[in-house]
Amino acid sequence: MSDSHLGFDTLAVHAGADPDPATGARQVPIYQTTSYVFRDADHAARLFNLEEVGFIYSRLTNPTVAALANRVAALEGAAGGIACSSGHAAQIMALFPLMGPGCNVVSSSRLYGGTITQFSHTIRRFGWEAKFVDTDDLDAVEAAIDENTRALFCETIANPGGYVTDLDAMAAIADRAGIPLIVDNTTATPWLCRPIDHGATLVVHSATKYLTGNGTVTGGVVVDSGKFDWSASDKFPSLSQPEPAYHGLTFAGLGPMAFTFHSIAIGLRDLGMTMNPQGAHYTLMGIETLGLRMERHVKNARVVAEWLEKDARIDSVTYAGLPSSPYRERAERIVPKGAGALFTVGVKGGYDACVKLVESLKLFSHVANLGDTRSLIIHPASTTHRQLEEDQQVKAGAAPNLVRISIGIEDVQDIIADLDQGLSAATA
Ligand SMILES: *Cc1c(COP(=O)(O)O)cnc(C)c1O
Repeated sequence: MSDSHLGFDTLAVHAGADPDPATGARQVPIYQTTSYVFRDADHAARLFNLEEVGFIYSRLTNPTVAALANRVAALEGAAGGIACSSGHAAQIMALFPLMGPGCNVVSSSRLYGGTITQFSHTIRRFGWEAKFVDTDDLDAVEAAIDENTRALFCETIANPGGYVTDLDAMAAIADRAGIPLIVDNTTATPWLCRPIDHGATLVVHSATKYLTGNGTVTGGVVVDSGKFDWSASDKFPSLSQPEPAYHGLTFAGLGPMAFTFHSIAIGLRDLGMTMNPQGAHYTLMGIETLGLRMERHVKNARVVAEWLEKDARIDSVTYAGLPSSPYRERAERIVPKGAGALFTVGVKGGYDACVKLVESLKLFSHVANLGDTRSLIIHPASTTHRQLEEDQQVKAGAAPNLVRISIGIEDVQDIIADLDQGLSAATA
């Protein structure tokens, strides 16, 4: 099936999956198998040489997992991609072919709390470094890039504040520096924004969130535009130079699939951050209704944000879709269908009132997750962003007086009624 002319909701249901060739099964089967029988010794040799594409062992590729990767690639307008075991795994898998000891990534300071921790501590064990900058200050982004920088990294709609990043401006800076822009598109999803259309090279997802949609799977996806010229400089030897762990193959020679094949043949083979077929199946089913769900998420979020903004018990609402938001104009350009369903609310009474609000809500669940069909709430300063210093919390949009809410697809009057009674209890 050629996908290029099909609309988003059609691709969400069909892309990456034809009826099963062996059985005709209409839904993508869960290929719960670790290995695949070779036709003969020559077939096996050709697969191991990457002369023929096929299934060898499920740490590298699996038909159910491949259907998921190909579906997300189609939705993002990408050349190819891989699915992996979590959103955090996706971030490592995106950086791995680009980085080496002594290399750095220039990253937005407004990120998912776990990503700030992964980037500021754990990647140092590989000899990698992240330099954090406020991506609203484009001169600072440009100034942070040095000869060892191998990528720019940001989120489309930054967790937890719901801030919208100017992807076009970030891509222009990345182009001038000859490095790829990596965008974490978890909170926007390709229904609200396709970062590749704004100049991004790599897009990463935590499939744990909206893609699956109902809090059942931990997974991640990396997709590649296929447009970056890895051989234009000597910065990306893993892709542009012969690979000794692959009998001298040069991945850049594979054209638009260079990054994807490297991610399978080296990344998944040797790092092993593989997604399981059952998880991939749930995520594929989730994606079938992604457009329908996002439409409701965004509609509810706007109504709730407007209601909260007028409430006397509230200090601030960061929803970029509000007419009062400083990000309103940018949101109309980057996420024209809506500014997502995740934002923070400043509660009068600070830290203690936030904790009380979280404990008083009945419909909202108090969980460290987002992008569920259910409305969710968390107090970042005492949970997800707890490991950060207070100034890092403030820079990340997770100050002590803020709660983060992820608006679900329930009836909006029920969401508002719950917030109303919770705020009364919190500010009594
Ligand atoms: C949840 C999340 C991650 C991490 O994903 P996991 O699947 O939990 O590993 C990364 N980025 C964003 C924006 C997220 O919301």
